[in-house]
Amino acid sequence: MHKNFKNIDKVIYGRGSFNQLDVLLSEKRAEHNRFFLFIVDHYFKGKELEKRLPVKPEDVLLFIDVNPEEPTTDQVDQIRDCILKKKGLPSGIVGIGGGSVMDIAKACSLMFTNEGSSSKYQGLNLIKKPGIYHLGVPTISGTGAECSMTAVLTGPEKKLGLKCDWTVFNQVILDPDLISSVPTDWWFYTGMDTFIHCVESENGKLNNAFSHAYAEQSLKLCRDVFINPGCGQNAANDEKLMIASMMGGLSLTYSEVGVCHALSYGLSKILGTRHCYANCLAFNHLEDYYPEGVREFRQMLVKHKIVLPQHLSRTWTEDQISQMASVAYNLTHMWLHAIGPDWKDKISHESIKNLFKRL
Ligand code: NAD
Ligand code: ZN
Repeated sequence: MHKNFKNIDKVIYGRGSFNQLDVLLSEKRAEHNRFFLFIVDHYFKGKELEKRLPVKPEDVLLFIDVNPEEPTTDQVDQIRDCILKKKGLPSGIVGIGGGSVMDIAKACSLMFTNEGSSSKYQGLNLIKKPGIYHLGVPTISGTGAECSMTAVLTGPEKKLGLKCDWTVFNQVILDPDLISSVPTDWWFYTGMDTFIHCVESENGKLNNAFSHAYAEQSLKLCRDVFINPGCGQNAANDEKLMIASMMGGLSLTYSEVGVCHALSYGLSKILGTRHCYANCLAFNHLEDYYPEGVREFRQMLVKHKIVLPQHLSRTWTEDQISQMASVAYNLTHMWLHAIGPDWKDKISHESIKNLFKRL
């Protein structure tokens, strides 16, 4: 079976495009109980962007602190229950922030119309009914959450996305002005998520002309942002990074991620390490699988003076390493892509433990 993926319905791109948000929402305000739910990264509380939010008196504005934990099923359930109780069904949701806030907005959109806890729906196509209108505004670039068909949540049993066609945003606004305030370390880690998405998408069995075209262009933009002359965090590169992020996300949608993401999920689930940082920690030791990508990655680390901790595994117990290896081993679709149909002959729980011990 060939993949049949849903793309974002509409995208606006360009400096200052955030100003069009009010007009976009006005077209939807007659729906349901005639109010919008704004979910905004806590960083923007009291900042200039807060004054620019087109929030009307009937709307609900929630600032969410995404540190230190990534989004959880409980968090999404609570937002949904509280809003439904107080105001009923919103006309739509606006999510303004990074992958964390965008995933919360995507998940809430689905959970407003699907009964019970969001933990019931972690997986592929488990959602029963379409969600409500949802619009995403990334303020940090790299995860591709702005275009992906998944909303990643940590639940009581697993860290897994609510994945279906209805998860995808109806509208996205890509305004490069909004990512200029990202601290350099986050800019690097989250940007590297894109780089790693592309390297993994390209180096595996599911790569095809469609995913390759996106990855090739995204990698070109990543190199301009992180390694070529003129690289660094500046306005021109912010324009490129936003597009690289989206294209990296589209590439892996038509292909798959690989070894690094499998390990990264293990780190996040067992130790709570954040996605993009966990990817950087793991990727740095995967030269056997991605020699060229890791070589470039290390050059970028040096260029931007990013120092990753070494010998982390010495602080982990054997049991933790074993649990991380189990999480990684169970991501069969990633191994299938990265290694091939005979991956079980080449990869074992023990060999994954050894990969973790490199960290
Ligand atoms: P994030 O949303 O976790 O935010 C990282 C930090 O940057 C936070 O401290 C936040 O407050 C801050 N920040 C965001 N925008 C800023 C700005 N403009 N100025 C200053 N600070 C700003 O970051 P992320 O790396 O984009 O997202 C990680 C999350 O994305 C994880 O929860 C991960 O599971 C998820 N993810 C989702 C997908 C998907 O396809 N849905 C893919 C990869 C990762
Ligand atoms: Zn990723």
